[in-house]
Amino acid sequence: MKTALFPGSFDPVTNGHLDIVSRAGRIFDRIIVAVASNESKSALFSMEERKKFLEHVCMDIPNVEVISFKGLLLDAARNLKVSAVLRGLRAISDFEYEFQMAMMNKELDSRFETVFLMSSSQYSFVSSRMIKEIVRLGGDVTPFVPPIVNQALKEKRGKILEETAE
Ligand code: ADP
Repeated sequence: MKTALFPGSFDPVTNGHLDIVSRAGRIFDRIIVAVASNESKSALFSMEERKKFLEHVCMDIPNVEVISFKGLLLDAARNLKVSAVLRGLRAISDFEYEFQMAMMNKELDSRFETVFLMSSSQYSFVSSRMIKEIVRLGGDVTPFVPPIVNQALKEKRGKILEETAE
């Protein structure tokens, strides 16, 4: 059984992430979406919230499960015995970081494989960071995020404004 581990911050999950999960679900037998608890990045949503949104929006995609992980991605991939780590690639700007990370992980463990899916064109400009920025400025992100996330972003707008005012 071929399992892919899809790691990320998912702060919050967007339709771009979902597009990658559903397309990868047609290639792999099982996808494990892994929410990273990244202490160096201050997240808008808590780990529990990010996980809850993902569980909700992946409910209808078969063979997807959502977990959280701490520490090295390599260790998570080893423990879960996955065949590959899955990442999405939007533009050239993603490439440099992703290339570096894939190379480093390969250097740390030669069995480590990273599989990239190109983003679909309609989501190629969608990022969690950009979504939060649009919400901060009072824009509508309905086309880019699942409804549950859209609602949560509206409720968190105060926090987004507070954080940027500091
Ligand atoms: P990270 O902080 O690890 O980059 P993200 O949540 O931002 O986590 O992204 C997780 C993965 O999803 C990354 O591989 C990222 O490139 C990919 N991704 C994010 N947004 C999109 C999108 N709109 N289309 C395709 N892939 C995406």
